Amino acid sequence: MPAYEYACKKCKKEFTVFLSLKELEAKPKIKCPYCQSDNVSKQLSGFFAKTSKKS
Ligand SMILES: [Zn+2]
Repeated sequence: MPAYEYACKKCKKEFTVFLSLKELEAKPKIKCPYCQSDNVSKQLSGFFAKTSKKS
Protein backbone atom coordinates (compact mmCIF):
# COMPACT_ATOMS: atom_id res chain seq x y z
CA MET A 1 0.00 0.00 0.00
CA PRO A 2 1.38 3.39 -0.88
CA ALA A 3 2.48 5.66 1.87
CA TYR A 4 2.19 9.41 1.82
CA GLU A 5 4.17 11.86 3.81
CA TYR A 6 2.27 14.64 5.42
CA ALA A 7 3.35 17.55 7.52
CA CYS A 8 1.11 19.22 10.05
CA LYS A 9 1.11 22.98 9.74
CA LYS A 10 -0.12 23.38 13.24
CA CYS A 11 2.32 21.36 15.28
CA LYS A 12 4.96 20.99 12.56
CA LYS A 13 5.18 17.26 12.92
CA GLU A 14 5.48 14.90 10.07
CA PHE A 15 3.65 11.66 9.72
CA THR A 16 2.98 8.97 7.21
CA VAL A 17 -0.44 7.99 5.99
CA PHE A 18 -1.20 4.78 4.20
CA LEU A 19 -3.84 5.17 1.54
CA SER A 20 -4.90 3.12 -1.38
CA LEU A 21 -5.35 4.96 -4.65
CA LYS A 22 -9.08 4.69 -4.28
CA GLU A 23 -8.95 6.26 -0.88
CA LEU A 24 -6.72 9.01 -2.15
CA GLU A 25 -9.06 9.80 -5.01
CA ALA A 26 -11.86 10.22 -2.53
CA LYS A 27 -9.82 13.10 -1.11
CA PRO A 28 -10.03 12.06 2.49
CA LYS A 29 -9.59 14.53 5.27
CA ILE A 30 -6.24 13.74 6.70
CA LYS A 31 -5.84 14.56 10.31
CA CYS A 32 -2.69 15.00 12.24
CA PRO A 33 -2.31 12.09 14.65
CA TYR A 34 -0.61 14.35 17.15
CA CYS A 35 -2.95 17.31 17.45
CA GLN A 36 -5.95 16.15 15.40
CA SER A 37 -5.73 19.18 13.18
CA ASP A 38 -6.69 18.79 9.55
CA ASN A 39 -4.38 21.61 8.61
CA VAL A 40 -1.90 19.31 6.99
CA SER A 41 -0.03 19.39 3.73
CA LYS A 42 1.18 16.57 1.61
CA GLN A 43 4.89 16.33 1.18
CA LEU A 44 5.96 15.93 -2.39
CA SER A 45 9.57 15.18 -1.67
CA GLY A 46 8.83 11.53 -1.55
CA PHE A 47 10.41 8.52 -2.84
CA PHE A 48 7.27 7.67 -4.72
CA ALA A 49 7.87 10.33 -7.31
CA LYS A 50 11.05 8.60 -8.23
CA THR A 51 9.58 5.18 -8.36
CA SER A 52 8.73 4.07 -11.82
CA LYS A 53 5.08 3.50 -12.33
CA LYS A 54 3.97 -0.02 -12.46
CA SER A 55 0.68 -0.61 -14.12
ZN1 LIG B 1 -0.41 18.41 14.33
